[in-house]
Amino acid sequence: MPERFDVHDHRHALKLHKDTGQTQLWENKKGLDCPACDDAFADLLISEKRHNSFNRPDGRFCVVRDEDRLLVFTH
Ligand SMILES: [Zn+2]
Repeated sequence: MPERFDVHDHRHALKLHKDTGQTQLWENKKGLDCPACDDAFADLLISEKRHNSFNRPDGRFCVVRDEDRLLVFTH
């Protein structure tokens, strides 16, 4: 099992832009690697909601599924 991506482990490299309680949007300030594809990601959306709907992204995005949340990494 790959390690769970924890924003607190990367707090110095991430800037929080939005927090609704169930979703958080983080900006990657220091070129952290996406756990799904190993390329640096642009933004990270973390959602604890069961249903999620997104606008069409500009480019590739990667999804990581945990038991209790969904992580979407945009590139
Ligand atoms: Zn990726």
